[in-house]
Amino acid sequence: MALKKCPKCEVNYMREGEALCALCARLHKRPSAAEEETLFCSECGEAPALTGRDLCETCFAEQKRQTALESLADKVRRDEANAPIEGRLGEEPSDADDD
Ligand SMILES: [Zn+2]
Ligand SMILES: [Zn+2]
Repeated sequence: MALKKCPKCEVNYMREGEALCALCARLHKRPSAAEEETLFCSECGEAPALTGRDLCETCFAEQKRQTALESLADKVRRDEANAPIEGRLGEEPSDADDD
């Protein structure tokens, strides 16, 4: 079995066919191997997503800002659309009291 020195740390030996020694291979991976289920932001794909969300902190904040703007615009639109109808909805002919 040919053992080669790890090109990264040059201290540990590694097996033939491996790119790094076991130690470096482990370090090369993401530091939090225990959190392998961490999802990456679906928006930028670079930062880890917040727990329970699919966006990172930055994108989530941005989305919140966008949503706030949208809902505001939506509200204005809805208010405009509802204005003429509201009066009619309030006065339903409910003459169920036939005495
Ligand atoms: Zn190494
Ligand atoms: Zn992001």
